[in-house]
Amino acid sequence: MEHLSVTHAQKCILDSVNIQDIETISLEKSLNHVLAEDIVANRDLPPYAVSAMDGYAVRSADLAVAPAPLTVIEDIKAGDMPMKTVRAGQCARIMTGAPVPEGADAVIRVEETLALSDSQVQINIAVKAGNDIRSRGEGMRNGDVVLATGTEITPGVIGILATVKRAEVQVYRRPRVAILSTGNELEDMDDPVDPNKIPNSNSYALMAQVQALGIEPALLGIARDDPAELTEYLQRGLKFDVLLVSGGTSVGVHDYVRPAIEELGVQMKFWRVAMKPGHPLAFGTTDKTAVFGLPGNPVSSMVCFEQFVAPALRRMTGHARLYRRTISARLTHNIKHQQGRTEFIRVVLAKVEEGYSATSTGAQGSGMLLSMAKADGLMVVPADRGELAADEQVIVQLLDGTSFQYGPDFKD
Ligand code: AMP
Ligand code: MG
Repeated sequence: MEHLSVTHAQKCILDSVNIQDIETISLEKSLNHVLAEDIVANRDLPPYAVSAMDGYAVRSADLAVAPAPLTVIEDIKAGDMPMKTVRAGQCARIMTGAPVPEGADAVIRVEETLALSDSQVQINIAVKAGNDIRSRGEGMRNGDVVLATGTEITPGVIGILATVKRAEVQVYRRPRVAILSTGNELEDMDDPVDPNKIPNSNSYALMAQVQALGIEPALLGIARDDPAELTEYLQRGLKFDVLLVSGGTSVGVHDYVRPAIEELGVQMKFWRVAMKPGHPLAFGTTDKTAVFGLPGNPVSSMVCFEQFVAPALRRMTGHARLYRRTISARLTHNIKHQQGRTEFIRVVLAKVEEGYSATSTGAQGSGMLLSMAKADGLMVVPADRGELAADEQVIVQLLDGTSFQYGPDFKD
């Protein structure tokens, strides 16, 4: 199997994973899910013409000559229904959200008036019909599709769902994800500190990356570099929708992950991507499970998650925007780059006059996890680029927040 470019590998993965089935969940639990149904308005909002201001409901024709004194015939609060019709020379005191009474065709905000007495007000300006009135149905119309299938449920969307009284909504089920680390050298969280061992950080960093997408993964622990033990752990992992295996995908004699998963019926789609860090990435599928063989080096594991696993999990969850949002930033220093691989450099961003600047977090070895811990983003150096010079504009994938976009925005 040849080395794929990052974008080819992404495409291969996205072509191999399916959107999950639909489940019904409560509104309270729906944040960041994706709607699996069209949402239809069940009423006109507002239900009638209402005032947009605290002020007076008037007949615009009465204000041809302003200032004009008018007689106040009624007080209308939000939730009240008007009892009287406004006739020539008359007005009604009205509060924001209260229905506009018959006869009136405009609202004058209180700041443009002068109370002469309890029942008399001077209106200081002339306005056109419709001024400061919210018309019936301007927010939503009964029967209209207000949210389409595929909409990401944000706080604003929750507000609309509450408006149409949806206590439950249909969404795409989130995939169930398992994480397995492999390696004889690994020491897990509960093990005593042994100076000869390597702490298992990948399981936890991957856990957090999955959690950041709104999914609670299962941690399967650590499998030793032993085909029989590995097979046992992998069998448990293949019960999930997505299995992330860390380590053991390279060319070492004890890298048993690829043969072991193939033995279990996983069809390998590719192995090795022309990228740095993250070269020995393997991907395969069964009928049920997408299996990612992630490189063991801690930075490689996290970068591969960002490039390949996150878009796949987002697609499975029904999202249309699969890729981390990118911004353009000005590089503050030179960067050496070996042609042939797309490189992801961990950078810190700073606000500068024309946008952002990007500065490397320091030593970029694929085992130097601090470079990732400090990073605001991943700067993308395309495979065919030579050395980058200070002041060049570069593309940076943002790592923080929940903003995603439709495409990767780079070619490699
Ligand atoms: P491998 O891909 O298994 O050859 O591992 C490459 C490097 O990553 C080795 O130096 C491992 O010690 C390290 N490594 C592998 N798995 C983990 C893990 N779960 N946590 C931290 N480092 C790891
Ligand atoms: Mg290993």
